[in-house]
Amino acid sequence: MEKENANGKEKNLSIVVPLYNEEENVKPLYAALKPVLDGMGVDYEIVFVDDGSSDGTLHTLAGLSADPNVVVIEFRRNFGQTAAFAAGFDHARGEVIITMDGDLQNDPADIPKLYEMAKKYDLVSGWRKNRKDPFIKRKLPSMAANWLIGKVTGVRLHDYGCSLKAYRKDVVKNLRLYGEMHRFIPAVANWYGVSVAEVETTHHPRLRGKSKYGLSRTVKVFLDLITVKFLQSFSTKPIQFFGPVGLLSTAAGLLISLWLAAQKILMGKSIGGRPLLLLGVLLIIVGIQLIGMGLLGEMLARVYHESQKKPIYVLKKITSGGKNS
Ligand code: UDP
Ligand code: MG
Repeated sequence: MEKENANGKEKNLSIVVPLYNEEENVKPLYAALKPVLDGMGVDYEIVFVDDGSSDGTLHTLAGLSADPNVVVIEFRRNFGQTAAFAAGFDHARGEVIITMDGDLQNDPADIPKLYEMAKKYDLVSGWRKNRKDPFIKRKLPSMAANWLIGKVTGVRLHDYGCSLKAYRKDVVKNLRLYGEMHRFIPAVANWYGVSVAEVETTHHPRLRGKSKYGLSRTVKVFLDLITVKFLQSFSTKPIQFFGPVGLLSTAAGLLISLWLAAQKILMGKSIGGRPLLLLGVLLIIVGIQLIGMGLLGEMLARVYHESQKKPIYVLKKITSGGKNS
């Protein structure tokens, strides 16, 4: 019996491709994908997400949508690559979902390899070992980012930025993506306890169209990393993050103030012009504010989980009387 889910008939494999002004790439990409996917002998779909392109991308996609294996999702405006992935995940019907760039920098020939690996692992990340991008603008920031993300999140991958990744359905269906978060999916998914593997993939230089990113992406990635780390470690216990710093600051401030007060009261020294007084007061105020932020965070964590009936754990399955649910 064919299984149905909320989006219709289930498939073995969904390919999700975000496209923003890639009119020259759409047709060559489709032409390269088709023989690979047909040759795999699986029930598949290609989900093209047009991220508000202002060129002929959508027009070209309309020509492809006659293929029953092609799904075209159209955004009203440009929402960014992460949003395009999120829409693709929401509408994908595949047991395995593979994402890739729409500019043919990823090689469709790598898809069968990733698909096979995804039978054993929840998440398979591509690694562009021979990356064909400019060194200073791309490869260097990316090397630093991969090192830092690995250190901070504890999930070490060679190539977080590689779009060619395979996911088992339940990994992405639980995911909520914001900002530029798509590159952090392996780190976020690790919180769910998924198994992660890495495979080397081929990378090509961009032949047609323009890259959509510059160096400014580095700052965004860094800020997102702070968010991911905080959510990963403290989202259900923010007071544990703000509290210790707040207590330390308040205690130091109190000590300084007491010391100054003793000097004033016992020795009659004037303390009005002492910089230390300023520091003492500042530390007390900052400390109390940090504790207050921690408490506010605790309240927010409750609102977040309870209003959405979102548990603070993720289940794999429950077994009772020999039956799974
Ligand atoms: N992309 C998108 N929305 C955006 C920017 C990019 O859907 O706002 C798509 C783009 O069309 C391409 C992929 O994301 O398919 C990767 O973009 P790009 O090749 O510019 O990134 P790079 O390879 O230079 O890191
Ligand atoms: Mg590219």
